[in-house]
Amino acid sequence: MKSVTIFGATGSVGQSAVDLIVRHPEDYDVVALTGGRNITQLAKDAVRLKAKVAVTCHDDLLNDLKSLLDGTGVEVAAGTTAIAEVAHRRADWTLSAIIGAAGLVPGLTALSHGTTLALANKESLVTAGPLLMQTAKDHGATILPVDSEHSAVFQALVGEEMDAVERIIITASGGAFRDWPVEKLAGATLAEASSHPNWDMGQRITIDSASMFNKGMELIETKEFFDVDPKMIEVLVHRESLVHALVGFTDGALMAHVGPPDMRHAIGYALHWPKRGNLPVERLDLAKIGRLSFEAPDPARYPALQIAADVMEMGGLAGAAFNAAKERALDLFIADKIGFLDMARIVSRVIDTMSARDGLQNAQITLENVMEIDALARVRAQEAMSELG
Ligand code: NAD
Ligand code: MG
Repeated sequence: MKSVTIFGATGSVGQSAVDLIVRHPEDYDVVALTGGRNITQLAKDAVRLKAKVAVTCHDDLLNDLKSLLDGTGVEVAAGTTAIAEVAHRRADWTLSAIIGAAGLVPGLTALSHGTTLALANKESLVTAGPLLMQTAKDHGATILPVDSEHSAVFQALVGEEMDAVERIIITASGGAFRDWPVEKLAGATLAEASSHPNWDMGQRITIDSASMFNKGMELIETKEFFDVDPKMIEVLVHRESLVHALVGFTDGALMAHVGPPDMRHAIGYALHWPKRGNLPVERLDLAKIGRLSFEAPDPARYPALQIAADVMEMGGLAGAAFNAAKERALDLFIADKIGFLDMARIVSRVIDTMSARDGLQNAQITLENVMEIDALARVRAQEAMSELG
């Protein structure tokens, strides 16, 4: 029996994990499930997975969640503090699938109890990569990547020496606007940005895929997780989303990871690691697929990639500022306060201002410093919006 906790159980990644676990209840002892507004789903899963505790991050939903779980024996809690608290209840395996910087503290806390952290929450690596990796080291904990590209790289590296790695290539579908004329992008609407050609994901990451902020975050995630020189990491547009990443070695070999665009693969790999499980994902028929295509990303279409590459070179707290500015700019786009291309303009401006004024590069990466820069970058993003007019 493996004890498991899922942070962000009601989200897109969280639900894929629930699907894997519910198929084999005899193998798992569920400690905690956490979610947000969708407490009906949270309560349903807590009952069918026999979770010890269910937590919503919204204080105002405590009584409603209590009523839903009355008489079931499932403990109930609410609020951000309650989420951080359940991270203290040790689980063998913890999935971090909260969206945004809010995933950082629960992940760090779970690591401090020596869990194996299956990390979908890329924001915690982008904002505080060195802190996360060091916390794992200090407590004998393990971090396994759950982002599909990073799981692919991790799998391509099994049995290899890092000294023999020359480059890491992560692929990108190109998102919703890959075939749009660049001149039209400024007028892209929320609905248009919220559909993905290949993956079925939460709305925020889907929009980040259209702008390629998601791929920019993944560049930084690659650097932090695999501890490689930023110059070794490349992005390749691959429309089919079947090859998730490739690792290039000093002898010229490229090891590619190929699989269906289904997050249950990367989650399942982390769940069964170091073994391979038997997963309910599609088996690809390559003869039927016929062709795989690759192209270089167009920097004019995807300015977020260059911003992320600069941030990756800066290091220090630049990642924390980048992520927070991006989260705020995305909020503003979703609220219809700014246009699609303004997101990159705002983030770029915040990084420029903060690297000049707020000392991002040389600061120490402590939780306090990360939180401070995160809050400041959100304010700077708001200011940048007013300045851009
Ligand atoms: P989602 O929006 O579908 O779900 C997010 C989950 O986090 C929900 O359970 C929500 O209730 C919870 N949540 C939101 N705000 C919270 C807060 N402030 N405090 C606590 N809980 C909160 O998101 P998703 O698409 O499942 O993505 C989750 C994470 O996985 C993100 O970091 C994303 O970048 C990463 N990821 C997602 C996919 C995908 O296929 N969706 C693929 C790779 C990586
Ligand atoms: Mg990804």
